[in-house]
Amino acid sequence: MIQAPKGTFDIFGNKAVSYRNLEGIIHDLCVRFGVTELRTPTFEYTELFHRGVGETTDVVQKEMYTFSDAGDRSLTLRPEGTAPACRAYLEHGMGSLPQPVKLYYISSFYRAEKPQKGRYRQFQSFGTEYFGSTDPAADAEIIALGWELFRLLGITGVELRINSIGDRECRLKYNTELREFIGSQLDRLCPVCKERAATNPLRVLDCKEEGCKRVLNDAPDILSTLGPDCKAHFGKVLGFLKAMGIPYTVDSRIVRGLDYYTKTVFEYISSDLGSQSALGGGGRYDHLMETIGGPSVPAVGFGIGIERLLIALEAQQAEQAAQIPPVVFIGAIPSQTNFAAGLTHKLRQSGISAQWDISGRSLKAQMKAADKSGARYSLVIGDDEAASNSATLKEMATGEQTTMILDKLTEFLTRKV
Ligand code: AMP
Repeated sequence: MIQAPKGTFDIFGNKAVSYRNLEGIIHDLCVRFGVTELRTPTFEYTELFHRGVGETTDVVQKEMYTFSDAGDRSLTLRPEGTAPACRAYLEHGMGSLPQPVKLYYISSFYRAEKPQKGRYRQFQSFGTEYFGSTDPAADAEIIALGWELFRLLGITGVELRINSIGDRECRLKYNTELREFIGSQLDRLCPVCKERAATNPLRVLDCKEEGCKRVLNDAPDILSTLGPDCKAHFGKVLGFLKAMGIPYTVDSRIVRGLDYYTKTVFEYISSDLGSQSALGGGGRYDHLMETIGGPSVPAVGFGIGIERLLIALEAQQAEQAAQIPPVVFIGAIPSQTNFAAGLTHKLRQSGISAQWDISGRSLKAQMKAADKSGARYSLVIGDDEAASNSATLKEMATGEQTTMILDKLTEFLTRKV
């Protein structure tokens, strides 16, 4: 038996309904916020992620699905959506449109991670990216968009944790302080942290090891090294959040795993998710566009995992029914299956959800299937019904019967839907 690859899964039945409903809610929400959809290719040139996500990140170092095509070009299944969105913005000259350009996507992403609950090798993410505004209002609006999604879905217990990691100058100053601190504690840190201390010290703050966390409690606080501009920016973001009634916790340990962030960074944390507790996260990335070869375009965005949203939803409410019961089930004796096929098809063309037997079952078994399907009405086509073009419609719940000309059936059922 060939199975789906490790860390991937099929979506069908109730799960497919949950995905579709969730996607519908996200599309409607983005219309309300004036954000338009972007669809990018499943794979990109590998260089885009090397430059855009950063050479020192786990994603680029360990998690990408990279392959060469027949022309020996290196391609990578997209591990995230921000770098492709920037590439699309540049490629289509979106800089000449009225700014900010506000884009969103619901796409599949691919990362060769160790699978566990809430962490897969193919997953879906809802992302938004606002391009062309340096204003803190853009940061706040993006955060509010994610927050509004949780409210609409009825997901409670989400905590917004927010931080500022400053601009390049603040970071340079902070990295020096942090390196000094890490240097003095090196023997108490895990091997990964030791390695990161040299390449990307900020990432040390991200370590989930309990021992490292204890050591890092005493690390210098990045918020105290922010310059006046970054401090003012952060203050304004928090001010907008207050004005919108969005509660937050300032958490100077939030740094995010990717290299491109500047100033605001945030995560939405849910207590229903276990160890993979981040429902989503994002931040400002004012220099990414230059990194991939474009002009300077300020930007801010987030990614929220669809599977993690569904886990949080499942933890809080019953699943939705996959099968919407048909309005009518049409049974037929073996000699009248053509008649039943024609009638069912005509009803469906008129927008009525109808079922008939496509398994060659006996009339008795068909009526059992009608019962199981949850249909509101059933009717049986025998030779008399076909000859007179009329039949007796039975309301399943009450047993009430109505005989009618079949030409009137569509009209009758339409009124009942
Ligand atoms: P990131 O780009 O790493 O910030 O991811 C954005 C969001 O996507 C995370 O907060 C998760 O909700 C989701 N996510 C990231 N990686 C995975 C994964 N391997 N499996 C499932 N969801 C993921």
